[in-house]
Amino acid sequence: MHRSWLRDRAAARSAEVRDQVAERARTLRTRFLPPPADDGERCGVCGRALRGQHRRSGTERACSAACARRWAERVEEAERERAEQEETERAERRAWERWRAVVAEAEGPTSS
Ligand SMILES: [Zn+2]
Repeated sequence: MHRSWLRDRAAARSAEVRDQVAERARTLRTRFLPPPADDGERCGVCGRALRGQHRRSGTERACSAACARRWAERVEEAERERAEQEETERAERRAWERWRAVVAEAEGPTSS
């Protein structure tokens, strides 16, 4: 009846949200993934081989000031996108909390 339908809907929605969050995490991980290890001697933007003085550890690998700027812009853009996605996730979570409250209300007080 009514109650179990609500519970099914809640479970389905929960799985849906979990899948969406996992998918987003995958996208972000791909975006922030540093170049493969064997590309360590190459510019992270244009792929040109780096000379010794330009080598950096981590993600800061650029062959020139222009490439460093483009790299920084890319990181900034990714950060901005991530902030937007986090805001969306917060909104989704709030909506989900409200939905759960509605379900709880519909089911009434439980003894458990
Ligand atoms: Zn470059």
